[in-house]
Amino acid sequence: MWAIVSFFLIHWFLSLFFHSFFLHRYASHQMYTTGKKREKIFYFLTWFAQGSSYLVPHAYGVMHRMHHEYSDTEKDPHSPHFFKDVWQMMWHTSVIFTGLSNGTYVVEQKFVQSYLPKWDKLDKIGHSMITRVLFGIGYFLFYLYFAPNAWWFLLLPIHFFIGPIQGATVNWCGHKYGYSNFSNGDHSKNTSPWGVLLMGELFQNNHHYASTDANFAKKWFEFDLTYIIMRGLHKIKVIQLVPVNK
Ligand SMILES: [Zn+2]
Ligand SMILES: [Zn+2]
Repeated sequence: MWAIVSFFLIHWFLSLFFHSFFLHRYASHQMYTTGKKREKIFYFLTWFAQGSSYLVPHAYGVMHRMHHEYSDTEKDPHSPHFFKDVWQMMWHTSVIFTGLSNGTYVVEQKFVQSYLPKWDKLDKIGHSMITRVLFGIGYFLFYLYFAPNAWWFLLLPIHFFIGPIQGATVNWCGHKYGYSNFSNGDHSKNTSPWGVLLMGELFQNNHHYASTDANFAKKWFEFDLTYIIMRGLHKIKVIQLVPVNK
């Protein structure tokens, strides 16, 4: 049992960390700078951690910039206020995301003006169906070997779709439930205490208020774990946090 629980927690938090640290705070917002080699290492680890549900960084960056520009309006790619349930929102998001990943979605110029990390070779491998299925088979075999009974297999879909599930949780809850510290003209909310499980990403209200600030926590009781790790990486000079102009 402990092998499965550990595997689940490691997969959940590793995938989430690179989602937050690399896809969100770097590819979309450039909240820190880093060397080219280190960028490649983070890129690789993001792919490896997300595995079967790898989110192509440049597609993620563009879609997320669209989300900030059009937050909770009809042009927002994933506002919960335009869908009956989370499944419809996820489907709509995945259609746009696939178009962006394959280059078939026409992007407004303003969303590609600032830097977007790109590694074509890795994206080609990571985004291919064969690679995604192979990761899925890997997760399945791990469960087959270690799961004490069949009930544990119910967790497998979370492994298969871990990136989109974490994204949808943030997009749905972070724009629907919780409290606001700032009025941003949208429905962004801070969802505590569940925010801890999403490593700071659920402080959407704070983040939309100061979208270039790497620290999503604004009140003494708010805790942004990804930012704490980033501060450590900055201290040991692995990344350089970009100072925030206020
Ligand atoms: Zn948001
Ligand atoms: Zn953002």
